[in-house]
Amino acid sequence: MSEPLLLGLNLRAAYRIRLGEIRAVDGVDFEVPRGAVVGLAGESGCGKSTLVNVLLANVRPPLMLKSGKILLDGLELLGMAREEVRKKVWGVKVSYVPQSALNAINPTKRIIELVKDAIRQHKPATDEEIISLCKKRFEELNLPVDSVYKYPHELSGGMRQRVIIAISTLLNPRLLVVDEPTSALDVSTQKQVLRMMLDMKKDRIIDSILFVTHELPVLRQVATHVYVMYAGKIVEYGPADSIFFSPMHPYTKALMYSVMTPEPESRARGLVTIPGEPPSLLMPPQGCRFHPRCPYAMDVCRVREPKLLSMGEGRGVACFLHHSEAVN
Ligand code: SF4
Repeated sequence: MSEPLLLGLNLRAAYRIRLGEIRAVDGVDFEVPRGAVVGLAGESGCGKSTLVNVLLANVRPPLMLKSGKILLDGLELLGMAREEVRKKVWGVKVSYVPQSALNAINPTKRIIELVKDAIRQHKPATDEEIISLCKKRFEELNLPVDSVYKYPHELSGGMRQRVIIAISTLLNPRLLVVDEPTSALDVSTQKQVLRMMLDMKKDRIIDSILFVTHELPVLRQVATHVYVMYAGKIVEYGPADSIFFSPMHPYTKALMYSVMTPEPESRARGLVTIPGEPPSLLMPPQGCRFHPRCPYAMDVCRVREPKLLSMGEGRGVACFLHHSEAVN
């Protein structure tokens, strides 16, 4: 089996604040196989975005890395200076489209000016070379070529999202990381964004995708592998089909069958919300961190923390309900 494109081992990272440490990533192992679409799912505040920043070696105060090793396409990221990572890794080996990208884009610059700024961070290039590169990519992805001369506000939300993803991958990074790329979009526009990302993979513009979302059902349309995160830890992982068709962890089931919308709307659609709130990562509950919200909690869950154990066939779960089935 080939080595994964991205591998993170024993990752621990915390935000240092006056009251102590917020342990947002607490002992996580994570991998993105080559050619895979890996989904990372969990509620807001569970540590997903922090984990992504750690995996991309984007760690700055108040976030501190406490332990871990990260290999991206053979490069050991944590041994590199930030400037080296900026030049050799970001935009080149991996491109990251954060959740805030739609709003953070500079409204006073045309798309092509944004592209020039981005490309020249990595290599010298003339205006003509950049325009030609950009137009060629837009043609490949069936995006209107004249949108390169538009201002961001002249594009619809869905088109803006597709354009941001297209220009972030102009240098053909092996990995595309997208954080909630579809959450502000209607269903048909979501499908266009998802389709474009899968086309980029099929056309070998990128190798693999890491897709971060609080909406587990969205991953059903694209993911080959899924990780579920709760309170700074991975609580379940596995091939997408097995996670979607036979989720093991009670939190995964809750994410699958419930929605984070106001109750009347949820009830009208026959869905339920997950009761309770995610715990504080400053002082997480003792034992299983999900136990205050778990309908199956037992005495042991309140005092001992379940390990993330292998269930075989590429699956793992951290829940005492399944530990008698674990394989060594
Ligand atoms: Fe629920 Fe216990 Fe499993 Fe935690 S370990 S998810 S509390 S049953």
